[in-house]
Amino acid sequence: MGKYDRFKILRRKIASTNFQCQLCRRFVKEGEDYYSEEIRDKLLYSPHKKKFCKECVEKFKKQLPPIID
Ligand SMILES: [Zn+2]
Repeated sequence: MGKYDRFKILRRKIASTNFQCQLCRRFVKEGEDYYSEEIRDKLLYSPHKKKFCKECVEKFKKQLPPIID
């Protein structure tokens, strides 16, 4: 658990480049939906922004930060 965990949220985004999901290691391709972990308070900077594919977010919803659209 990190120091800023309670400030974390997930935001749905569209991938602009290919990258690996940090949970399942599947590649999210350009143009696909994914979820990016962000800090709710803009004054707090998160150096380790995580990116998850939507399958993982659906599967692990209860353990991940809340989704804010
Ligand atoms: Zn995944």
